Amino acid sequence: MRESSSTYASRIRRFRLPRLCIAVVGPDAPTMIERAESLVRDNPFIELRLDYLSQPLSALPKLKAFLEMHPEATFIATCRRTVNGGKFKGSVAAELAVLRKAADSGFPLVDLELQSAEALKAEDLKDLSNRVGVVLSYHNFKSTKKLDEQFGEMSKYPADFYKVVSTATNLYDNVAMMRFVEASSGKHEMVGLCMGEQGIISRVLGVRAGSIFTFGAATRGEETAPGQVLAGELRDTYRIDMVDQATQVYGVAGDPINHSLSPAMMNAAFRRETVNAVYLALHAKSLKDLLACVRDIPLRGLSITMPYKQEMVDALENSDPLTRQIGACNTVVRAADGKLYGFNTDVAGVMVPLEQRLQLAGTRVLIVGAGGVARAAAFGLKNKGAEVFLTNRTAEKGQSLARQAKVKYLKRVEVAKQAFDVIINATPVGMNGNKQSPLEEKELNTKFVFDLVYSPAETKLTKMAVAKGLQVIPGLEMFVQQGARQFEIWTGKPAPMAEMAYVVTKALERRAAEELAEQTKAPAKKAAKKSAKPAPRK
Ligand code: NAP
Repeated sequence: MRESSSTYASRIRRFRLPRLCIAVVGPDAPTMIERAESLVRDNPFIELRLDYLSQPLSALPKLKAFLEMHPEATFIATCRRTVNGGKFKGSVAAELAVLRKAADSGFPLVDLELQSAEALKAEDLKDLSNRVGVVLSYHNFKSTKKLDEQFGEMSKYPADFYKVVSTATNLYDNVAMMRFVEASSGKHEMVGLCMGEQGIISRVLGVRAGSIFTFGAATRGEETAPGQVLAGELRDTYRIDMVDQATQVYGVAGDPINHSLSPAMMNAAFRRETVNAVYLALHAKSLKDLLACVRDIPLRGLSITMPYKQEMVDALENSDPLTRQIGACNTVVRAADGKLYGFNTDVAGVMVPLEQRLQLAGTRVLIVGAGGVARAAAFGLKNKGAEVFLTNRTAEKGQSLARQAKVKYLKRVEVAKQAFDVIINATPVGMNGNKQSPLEEKELNTKFVFDLVYSPAETKLTKMAVAKGLQVIPGLEMFVQQGARQFEIWTGKPAPMAEMAYVVTKALERRAAEELAEQTKAPAKKAAKKSAKPAPRK
């Protein structure tokens, strides 16, 4: 054992490390310094990935000068070798030389991979840990398996922090990581998280379980590990600095889930109403995987989205009569007795915006689609006395729903021959990058078009409706209404709807701007590529 490990540990603990460490990469010292400089004021905990530098050793004098200018911040030096998933092509001895020099340049912490520690002589390891605080890391880029066994190997080596990073291949792997961190964090200073898209939630839940800190990326494209979340998102949306063991966990589950704006909206609502809760996006590839996690995470409440709204009903211990009637559930409460209770707030999501504009009894409404949301709309509108019509790509599915909800099924060819007061798009057509419309212009014989797609804010369908002089109800209204009801069911507090609508509107604007920037970049890239091609020989 090295004598000074406790000195470093206590010194580092006294720093009261922020929860969020931002990984900074760059090909040379000036670029890395420029990136770190732009971040350090708001993020005083930075990992400099020396393995991304073409000349790590010769870059260190410049980095030393930068560190001296920022005594308020904590820096980790990492020089991960390619065999361990990093970019450094040198030997273990060369890695050690870089880390030693980093220590002498003022880095208070260095990251050392377990494999490198195993290859080093005991005296070299001792020498390193006498110079600097050590984060001993273990990465598994394939799975989350045998964490305890692996940690048994790690704990043979003294370190100030033990960092265990695995890859989640399903949601339950996050539970395994949380349990591991919970069990080890009483005895050691632990950092634990899962990589991969399925492991995103572990970046928040790991901290809740006792991980001293987690990692975030500075910008998109600068991720240093698969599934790394943007630091700004961890800080502003998930309020990582506030997460503790008392933080209640909620989430939205579906497949796909990465485009959902529910985390932005619901976390903003929790923040506004000062509820100690965090709301995560759960990428559930199967309902079975999701249900295995619900109790173990433990989740207080869940929003259910495509494609699980109907399947979820069978997994509930109880539900309100409306949810049973509709046969689709978008809201789950895990009660104090551990049982799962289901609700359907999509109905309010569709009804409230319509009732704000129309008297629903006797109103002629066409629903396009026969999935979970179409079910909510069909039963909800029928209950209000509307004259409801339904059409769907797969006729049998549409006919079956029409029979159950006692509404009229229309073949697609019949749609253009009818006139409606409202047409509701309850399909994903028009959503996120899909530039299609579920109906043609000639089929829009209606006063209102309610496009339930909320991302993007404007779709081909809504543009067509506006051009035709029809009134448009944006999907955003449903999104906020259904979310507001969920918030109320979970917390018993009135939902901060204005805040929720504001956050989603801003997020949609940002998304549209990013998409536009991408579109303008694409032809420029193409042109650059073309002009870079050598001229054909004559
Ligand atoms: P779902 O259960 O998967 O149902 C999707 C429906 O859309 C099915 O009837 C399907 O027809 C139809 N469909 C899918 N792709 C189609 C295509 N290319 N052309 C024609 N029809 C197509 O989904 P859901 O949960 O009901 O959600 C549907 C949509 O509602 C979502 O995509 C989302 O945009 C929107 N939504 C909005 C909110 C909000 O708050 N604003 C909330 C939830 C959902 P088949 O039967 O032929 O497969």
